[in-house]
Amino acid sequence: MNYKITLLPGDGIGPEVTDAAVKVLKYAAERYGISLDLNEQLMGGCSYEEHGLPITDETIEICKQSNAVFLGAVGGPKWENLAHHLKPEAALLKLRKSLGLYTNIRPAKVYSAFLDASSLKNNVVAGTDFVVLRELTGGIYFGEPRGMDEEKGWNTMVYTRPEIERIAHQAFEIAQNREKRVTSVDKANVLEVSQYWRNVVHEVAKEYPDVTLHDMYVDNAAMQIVRNPKQFDVILTGNLFGDIISDIAGMITGSLGMLPSASVGTEHALYEPVHGSAPDIAGQNKANPIAAIASVAMMFKYTFNMHHVAKIIETSIEKTLQDGYRTVDIATEGGNLVSTDKITEQILKNCEVMFSKEADVQVG
Ligand code: NAD
Repeated sequence: MNYKITLLPGDGIGPEVTDAAVKVLKYAAERYGISLDLNEQLMGGCSYEEHGLPITDETIEICKQSNAVFLGAVGGPKWENLAHHLKPEAALLKLRKSLGLYTNIRPAKVYSAFLDASSLKNNVVAGTDFVVLRELTGGIYFGEPRGMDEEKGWNTMVYTRPEIERIAHQAFEIAQNREKRVTSVDKANVLEVSQYWRNVVHEVAKEYPDVTLHDMYVDNAAMQIVRNPKQFDVILTGNLFGDIISDIAGMITGSLGMLPSASVGTEHALYEPVHGSAPDIAGQNKANPIAAIASVAMMFKYTFNMHHVAKIIETSIEKTLQDGYRTVDIATEGGNLVSTDKITEQILKNCEVMFSKEADVQVG
């Protein structure tokens, strides 16, 4: 199978973490007979410098022709004072919209070697491994009417059947490759839009009898994620609730440099680390590439549909951390402080060992 992948390294540490991610991507693809057509383009401040725009229509068109897009990070102090539509971050919104990416997927996985980095107690977070699916293009952030005057401000929270159905299908399909449990988070005790969301999710659930569906009010969900995060497998929720829930879920796992994400639509997908361009450490070979590499693992899951390869990449990250390798953002006492290149090399070595073991099992 041949896949077209557009790379948008971006600004600051973006190119450094993209370089690390591409090493792992190329390596794993080659081992599993995936042919890659990689095409690098400008986005963010670097695109503004070259074209006077943070992303050009041509680049968007190239992304649309791809099976997946990988983004490093964009932005930096140099472009902070530009007009809103010229800022690097405006390119991100434009790209997401152009690709019709309606679901954001954020995993909350706690690496066992890294329990101390969580803001919660070790025994609470150990073994946590769930994903949050946040609806990205509907709900109160887009609903009309909206506005404000001297007397009041108002917004509209609305969800249509197709908007709920498509993300619910994604949630159940993802759960089928995991622990087969979906928790749909809403506020159905107060909001009609949430009651409607709940009704539609239950209808979709009938097509997935192997998956258990559970409803939870958002206030309770916020509490449960910090009380007992292990109870969750797949959390499905709307735009507003997902915005908050995915940040809570992200933080219990520790550092920003560890958090991958995917934004997925019907035809396209965008993979990117959650962190920004970290101008304070850019160009110093210090950036933590784990979020970017874990985003490649997500590409193997959601674009290539090769969950076992994703697992190998994730386990290689885990092993590297267990062996004590640390970048500056996750430095621990007694840890082995290394560069971006070194930790990437170590993750690749661990991938090699695991891929070889898997090949031996297949031959045997
Ligand atoms: P940031 O995520 O870039 O950095 C916050 C802090 O975390 C910094 O101290 C940084 O050094 C550290 N950090 C982040 N990622 C790291 C990594 N992989 N390894 C080691 N340390 C890491 O957030 P910020 O400072 O608020 O924003 C900087 C720029 O990035 C701004 O222009 C902002 O708009 C932009 N930004 C872009 C994206 C994106 O491209 N998706 C997301 C967030 C922020």
